[in-house]
Amino acid sequence: MAQPTVYYWDSISLEHDTGRHVERIDRAKRLAPDHLRSRVPMLNHQPIIAHDAVEWICKLHVPYYHDWVKNRCEAEVDRSLLDHGDTVISRRSYDAAIAAVNAALTAGDAVMNKTVANAFCAMRPPGHHALPDEAMGFCLFGTVSILAKYLQIHHGVGRIAIVDWDVHHGNGTQHFFYEDPSVLFVSLHQHPLWPGSGRASEIGDGAGQGFTLNVPIPPFTTESDYLAAFESKVLPALDDFRPEFLIISAGFDAHANDPLASLQLTESGFAQMTRWLKQLAGQHCDGRIVSCLEGGYNLDALEASVAAHLTELMV
Ligand SMILES: [Zn+2]
Repeated sequence: MAQPTVYYWDSISLEHDTGRHVERIDRAKRLAPDHLRSRVPMLNHQPIIAHDAVEWICKLHVPYYHDWVKNRCEAEVDRSLLDHGDTVISRRSYDAAIAAVNAALTAGDAVMNKTVANAFCAMRPPGHHALPDEAMGFCLFGTVSILAKYLQIHHGVGRIAIVDWDVHHGNGTQHFFYEDPSVLFVSLHQHPLWPGSGRASEIGDGAGQGFTLNVPIPPFTTESDYLAAFESKVLPALDDFRPEFLIISAGFDAHANDPLASLQLTESGFAQMTRWLKQLAGQHCDGRIVSCLEGGYNLDALEASVAAHLTELMV
């Protein structure tokens, strides 16, 4: 029988030192297994298994970009910016980003091999803004996109749905699969808000037309209206697509207390979305879900929301 939800967390996340930035070490401290067990007593923490992460990164990212990130981090003596925005790196940031990819691939293997029902990767840095040759929005590599490619090539999975409920549009993930009908990308995000993309009119291109669904949510939308949009737009699209595997880009910055945005979700909203997605995965793909942490910057809200998400995954 499959084990309950596996929780991947690694102390390397504590070494991605971004100083006083919102995407900081404290986020990983709050999600450390010994700490989180006070909220989720049955937490099933497992070690990450090293994969050939570089090979899989380079299926989507330009190889020179990978090499540049590695060299920049390893040469770092303090902290600096990797982009023109605010993606901070320090000496171990590359190793942390590689571990985030390895965690996702480990989770993918575990779910595909039926040793676990589903899995959550509580790693940092996040990934959904990273572009093929560009760091963006605290993200170095497109972790969930790399997982999707890995599942298709290594495990022979056909249709994959990625649901991104981070409050910011998952522009990187959208970019990677914009012309690909085998990956349905669904993003709910506050709009207008950085990075500015993610209008409802962005639906994919070429063969991928109709396989990108953007659900822009106005600032200050109530939790019930947000969940109504999820139920009426996201669930039918997923049902039509009939995914063989479901990936969640689980950012928790749509929480009412998050400092970076103005939506009104609570822990129970994240729990409700998790219940719906679990039910849907049960109907279409034997319950196969891997969920990966993206944003979420109010530490109390992050901890409580991750606990609520995990508790529902474990049911
Ligand atoms: Zn975000």
